[in-house]
Amino acid sequence: MSGTYLGMPAFPEAAREAVANTTLRGNLRHATHTIRAKRAKAVNEVSDWAGLREAGKRIKDHTLRHLDRYLIQLEESVTAAGGVVHWAADAAEANEIVTRLVKTTGESEVVKVKSMATQEIGLNEALRDAGISAYETDLAELIVQLGGDRPSHILVPAIHRNRGEIRDIFRSEMGEWGRPAPDGLTDTPAELAEAARLHLREKFLRAKVGISGANFMVAETGTLVVVESEGNGRMCLTLPETLISVVGIEKIVPTWRDLEVFLQTLPRSSTAERMNPYTSTWTGTTDGDGPGTFHLVLLDNGRTDTLADEVGRQALRCIRCSACLNVCPVYERAGGHAYGSVYPGPIGAILSPQLRGTGSEIDASLPYASSLCGACYEVCPVAIDIPEVLVHLRERVVEGGEVTRQGNKVVLRPAKGHAAERAAMRAARWALTHPGALRTGQRAASRTRRFHPRSLPGPGRAWSGTRELPPVPAEPFRDWWQRTRGGKGGAK
Ligand code: SF4
Repeated sequence: MSGTYLGMPAFPEAAREAVANTTLRGNLRHATHTIRAKRAKAVNEVSDWAGLREAGKRIKDHTLRHLDRYLIQLEESVTAAGGVVHWAADAAEANEIVTRLVKTTGESEVVKVKSMATQEIGLNEALRDAGISAYETDLAELIVQLGGDRPSHILVPAIHRNRGEIRDIFRSEMGEWGRPAPDGLTDTPAELAEAARLHLREKFLRAKVGISGANFMVAETGTLVVVESEGNGRMCLTLPETLISVVGIEKIVPTWRDLEVFLQTLPRSSTAERMNPYTSTWTGTTDGDGPGTFHLVLLDNGRTDTLADEVGRQALRCIRCSACLNVCPVYERAGGHAYGSVYPGPIGAILSPQLRGTGSEIDASLPYASSLCGACYEVCPVAIDIPEVLVHLRERVVEGGEVTRQGNKVVLRPAKGHAAERAAMRAARWALTHPGALRTGQRAASRTRRFHPRSLPGPGRAWSGTRELPPVPAEPFRDWWQRTRGGKGGAK
């Protein structure tokens, strides 16, 4: 399997293949049901969860509204604390900056903390092309990397693997990357964890450069925050001489007081913990303590375009907790790879088409990868109305595909496809704004109902082939109302 998402088919095709894989479905069902039950328990313990959720939503909305101001403040704070800030408009620029920074150190190896932003830009592949080896140190990311695989979950990237598969990957691949798996390795969790620990330790101790993302950046002090469970992040953030952090610009919170809200909601929503085991914070550099050089690469890569969309911008509130994935009936059956992006599940279905645009087949299909049941919205700790954004993006796909900016305005680029659907919508709009014509049409439809086909011809056949077409009533509702209610409030 390829390590990238390039050339992935549209969601329906990828999902059809995934759904037929019974091992994958079993792994996903077990994992998502376990996590969702634990999360519900952890959240129900908090009496003011609704208040925390609302506070998180408001803090994020406020920050996004004044993002320009907070980004400048962050840059000043990080610089004052001894860090160096770089601005990257897109993935190519971010990869170029990071590659140059690593090359400047003279090193050809880096250790990495789990980071969605660096996956989003394909940093490992860019470093590899420049002759630099990047070693993932999060256990699940290690499994994915050793297996030549792709992550399929935000929090648990190897959720699609069971213990037996992981043991086989460790046995066959660890030796290719460094210290081999111990002889006679079994699939017990303790043995697998110990094998990973031994394999990674020599990398931690040897690495001179660490690369991370961040869960949050505090503008008032220029502090970055990584929240994790394994301690590998702490090793990468403290042992190397140089630390490079690649972070999306939406990860800012204005103050430590704001951060407090998310340090309560994130662990409970993601790992169902009251408090995560490791919360690492760092502010620039400190003599004799941690990396002597710190670079922060602030990544846009479609975020300001997303911010310009009044409905879609709420996706930037996301704190990557994964709760929406774990409750999604579509994700549970199709798995993460079908979404063709590092952001799978409901959040991926609204974030990827905004960051990448809806021009490709896969991105245009993602807003439809949902039953709109609303479970994702219910569990989201920052109250992102994912169904609302999905419907909004469907409209974008049907109306025009690509959204572009002209100055401060967001405009839809004319569509190439979906001509039949657009024509049907135009006809419906005309009929609904001409009540006389609508009434005449309804009466004509009732009178001729015996002659109506039970399935649609042409391209509509696929739609009607899986649905019962509702029978046309003998009498239109408006006429019935007027007849039985004596005209009160009825059709004129
Ligand atoms: S959309 Fe909400 S529930 Fe889903 S990962 Fe983001 S914060 Fe968590």
